[in-house]
Amino acid sequence: MNHEDAEMELTADSIITQRVIARPRPHRPVQAGGKVGAVPDAPLFLHLDAVTTILDSLAREEPVEAGGLLVGHSCTDSSGPYLLITQAIPATLARGERLCLTFTHEAWNQMLDRKQKEYSEELIVGWYHTHPGLGVFLSGRDLFIHQHFFTDAMQVALVIDPADFTWGLFYWQNDELVAANGYYIYGRSDQTYQALAELLTEYGVSWGIQTEEVDYNA
Ligand SMILES: [Zn+2]
Repeated sequence: MNHEDAEMELTADSIITQRVIARPRPHRPVQAGGKVGAVPDAPLFLHLDAVTTILDSLAREEPVEAGGLLVGHSCTDSSGPYLLITQAIPATLARGERLCLTFTHEAWNQMLDRKQKEYSEELIVGWYHTHPGLGVFLSGRDLFIHQHFFTDAMQVALVIDPADFTWGLFYWQNDELVAANGYYIYGRSDQTYQALAELLTEYGVSWGIQTEEVDYNA
């Protein structure tokens, strides 16, 4: 990433967000990405549409890094605040390299342009990128990007290793970026838990998917 360019583009208007929507959290989500049986420590909800957009954007022949923005809503209900990640905007012009992702000036412009045009109601709730064959963690460079451009308390970093389909979400907790002990994937409101779980398995998404429906309100 060219940090100077990005700094110019990511203005307070596009990144800093305080809008919180009051609405009940999604029904029947699939718990993913954590230890089987463990309840996620952070209420992070990833929509199936975002999962499929990300999977489509990874359909490349070369094992290079890919990434993009995450959009969604900062919400609250009777159980407290939670984050909805409704869609992903792939950075199609990003130059992927073996060990680091370079978001060019054009890539930032393109993503922010799409965000304004297609997701004007949504907020930028974070970013995602891949670590082909390297595992899920935040490198020093990733930390730099997040600490400079995704400073809002609700903004997350999603890291994916497409080699073994492990996905990890990192979120702000007391000014530190920590790995979430799992999160939730949700679909349409009329989609049953079984249908959603089967669909995810079909996509090859198996990272910590729970086989039993979890009542997270219990
Ligand atoms: Zn990285």
